[in-house]
Amino acid sequence: VSIDGLNPDEAKKEMLRLIDKLNQWSHEYYELDSPTVEDSVYDNLYEKLTRIEHKYPDLVSKDSPTQKVGGAVLDGLNKVNHDVPMLSLGDVFSKRELFEFLNRLKNNNPGINAYNCELKIDGLSISLRYENGIFVQGSTRGNGLIGEDITENLKTIPSIPKKLTKPINIEVRGECYMPKKSFVKLNEQREKDGQKPFANPRNAAAGSLRQLDSMVTKSRNLSTFMYNVSDYNDLKSDTQSGMLEELSSLGFSVNDTYQVTHNSDEIGKYIDNYTNQRSQLDYGIDGIVVKTNSLALQSKIGHTVKVPRWAIAYKFPPEEAETKLLNVEWTV
Ligand code: NAD
Repeated sequence: VSIDGLNPDEAKKEMLRLIDKLNQWSHEYYELDSPTVEDSVYDNLYEKLTRIEHKYPDLVSKDSPTQKVGGAVLDGLNKVNHDVPMLSLGDVFSKRELFEFLNRLKNNNPGINAYNCELKIDGLSISLRYENGIFVQGSTRGNGLIGEDITENLKTIPSIPKKLTKPINIEVRGECYMPKKSFVKLNEQREKDGQKPFANPRNAAAGSLRQLDSMVTKSRNLSTFMYNVSDYNDLKSDTQSGMLEELSSLGFSVNDTYQVTHNSDEIGKYIDNYTNQRSQLDYGIDGIVVKTNSLALQSKIGHTVKVPRWAIAYKFPPEEAETKLLNVEWTV
C-alpha cells in the first residue's frame, strides 16, 4: 500500500496493520529469540510506519514500536529497574541519510566538533553494576525501563571483570555477543541434537543469556564489549573516546576499533574500511555508530523516548550468510 494519497481513516487502518505485524515480529525476535523474517524486512515496514506517523503525528499510538524500546520482560527471571533508561539507536541505511542527519545535528548544535565512530556490535545490550569495584548486578535492556536480572549468567563470561582495578561504584553498559565461531559450533551441535538452530548470533546470544541455569550460559562462550557509563561521578574524561579508554583501564573489554572523526570524509572512510573488513572480524557487526564525542554535548542534546539524539546507527545492507536460515518472504 502506498502511503501517498491515504486519507486519515485509511492511514489509521494501515498504521494498525503495520503495528500488529511489527509487534508480532518483535515478540518472536525479542521474547522467543526466534525471528521469522529478516531484519531488513522488519526495518522496511518500520520505516513505512515512521513515514505515516510523520505525516499524521496526531494518530501515533502508544503501542507503536516507534514509541518503545525492545520487547516485554520475560517471566522467570527477576526484574531490575533501570534508573537511567537503556535506549535503542536511531538508524539510517545510506551515507546520504547519515550525512543529512549529521548536518541537522551540527546545525542545531554548532559546538559539535568531533564524532566518535564505533562498530555496531550485533549482540544485545547489558548493564553491569559495581559496588566498591565488585560486580554486584547485571541485567538485560528489557523494555528499556525494566530489564531482567541475569547476574549469575553474566558471572560466567570471562570478559566481564568480577573486580575492577579501582574500588569504585559504577554502572556501565555495552554489548554481549556470541563470537562467529561459537555460533557455528552451537548450531552444529543443536542440529545434531535435533534442536532448532538459532537464526543468527544475536538471537543465539540473547537465548544464551536468558537462561535459568548459568551453566548453559557458560557453555555458550559469550563475550562482551562495553561502550557507555550510565552512572559514575568521578569520570575523568569529557569525551566518548576518553571514556572508552577509562573503561578499558578499569578492566572492561572495549572494542579498540573506535576512531575520533571530524567530517563526512573521515566518517565515510571509516564506514568503507569496516564494510570491507566486516566478514573477517571474529564477531558480527550490523553497522557503524556515530556518536557526538563531547559528553557534555551528549547530555545537553538528550534523547527521545526511544533513542539518543546525539548518535545514529548506519546499518549495513544484509549479509547473504546471515540471512540464509530465514526463507520467509514478506511483501509489503
Ligand atoms: P538496534 O539493534 O538497531 O540498535 C540499538 C542497539 O545497538 C543498542 O541498544 C545497543 O545494544 C546496540 N549497540 C551495538 N553496538 C553499539 C555501540 N557501539 N554503541 C551503542 N550501541 C550499540 O536496535 P534494537 O532496538 O535493539 O533493535 C531493533 C532492530 O532489531 C531492528 O532494526 C531490526 O533489525 C531488529 N529486529 C528484527 C526483528 C525481526 O523479526 N527480524 C524484530 C524486531 C527487531
